[in-house]
Amino acid sequence: MNHDPCLTCNTVNPDGANFCMQCGTKLPVPVVDLSKIPDKYRHPFGFWEVTRPADCEGRSLLYLGTYEGYVDYIARRLASAEPGGYYAYSFRAVPKLEDIPPNSDLKEVEVAFAMESRTWERTSGARVAVAEAIFQGRPVQVLPSPHTGSFKLKFRRLVR
Ligand SMILES: [Zn+2]
Repeated sequence: MNHDPCLTCNTVNPDGANFCMQCGTKLPVPVVDLSKIPDKYRHPFGFWEVTRPADCEGRSLLYLGTYEGYVDYIARRLASAEPGGYYAYSFRAVPKLEDIPPNSDLKEVEVAFAMESRTWERTSGARVAVAEAIFQGRPVQVLPSPHTGSFKLKFRRLVR
């Protein structure tokens, strides 16, 4: 962050100088301009999706999770699980659910569990039966989906 030239003698001074090299006038403290930094990145507290390079060549990324908190705290905890690792942890600000306005007109949505759930290799009918058991007690009806590994959740009207 460069100083403006000295107000007294117009000398341009090096970064970090507190007093003018030429005339000794106290230099104004430079103000860091954050106006070009998006809002979500102006504070270390947030909701962060964290990744790091999966290998030393950085050809692929390893997803480490999505966490709410201070970047320094999250990075410290994640690095503690990987002693000896020299990684740059990448923090991407993601919206919290509370930030997404609800749409009461939405009637249904299609979802899938990750492949590791072992719900994928089943037939659609068997997958619906499994999902019905999993979503028991939730205000949704489970229906088949044409998408691979997926099922449809139809929202029941919530009784208030
Ligand atoms: Zn000066």
